[in-house]
Amino acid sequence: MNDNNNKVKVINITGWGRNGSTLLGKILGEAEGSFYGGEIRNIWGRVLVENRLCGCGTPINECSLWKDILNKAFDGIENIDIKKMISLSKKYDRVRYYPHIFSSNDKEFIQSKLNYYISNHEKLFKAIKDVTNAKVIVDSSKSPFYGYLLTQLQNIDLYFVHLIRDPRGIAYSRQKKVVQPDKNKVIFMSQYDAVSNSLLWNTRNIASEQLCKKLNNKHLVVSYKDFILNPKETFNNIMNLINEPVTNTPFISDTEVKLGVNHSAWGNPDRFHNGVIKLKIDEEWKENLNFKDKMITTLLTLPLLKKYNLSI
Ligand SMILES: [Zn+2]
Repeated sequence: MNDNNNKVKVINITGWGRNGSTLLGKILGEAEGSFYGGEIRNIWGRVLVENRLCGCGTPINECSLWKDILNKAFDGIENIDIKKMISLSKKYDRVRYYPHIFSSNDKEFIQSKLNYYISNHEKLFKAIKDVTNAKVIVDSSKSPFYGYLLTQLQNIDLYFVHLIRDPRGIAYSRQKKVVQPDKNKVIFMSQYDAVSNSLLWNTRNIASEQLCKKLNNKHLVVSYKDFILNPKETFNNIMNLINEPVTNTPFISDTEVKLGVNHSAWGNPDRFHNGVIKLKIDEEWKENLNFKDKMITTLLTLPLLKKYNLSI
């Protein structure tokens, strides 16, 4: 019997932010037996310490589902050193450690530096599985280094979805001031100038390609445009990838979904929008991104624009 049969399946969406991962995560989370956990890697820092909102609208420390998950995982949240989890994440989840993703043999580094982080994620994913009865957990964390750490977890059956959006669309989105809602204080999503956005888009996508190679045939490359224009096909392709039947889909038409409340730990504020949602391609950048930033982004990302068949 395949060892993976008893493990919970985890779909990790990788790439560079503002690529539509929250919407894709929410839609995948509607499949039968599936749980959308949002950007699970962020649960330690932004979420638990600041007690920010779960996707259900409740502060996470008061959300009964996450309370059950965290209690089950660690036998009480007080038993986990959250500060240590945050400092490990801040220290290692950075571009300078991406070369490890390209290495074929660095178990020693991982064991010596990140064993605490990895073993606590094993406990967390097991508890999510046990509390939600999920067969599939969807994690839209996107960071390739975090994705690489997930490959070290012994108790999950991992799949990567590399979601690619036109860097000029992301550049335009990254210039907007987007509020992260919270009861107590207002914070904004990170903004980036065109150069930083382009360099990170290149880095994240190259690292995501490498990450996918680590899982052989257990990965899928999805373009944002294909996903928005043909969401049913994308949904079906991902279900095929993870070998799950296409049941209980949220589609009420070819381009409309009906989404229930989710318990995403973190992500784009879109995670709070439920009900009937019509998928619509966002190409505002074509009209509104200024000429200079469009040129900078196009030039800096040219090789991958060509590789991914994104129009120049
Ligand atoms: Zn919740």
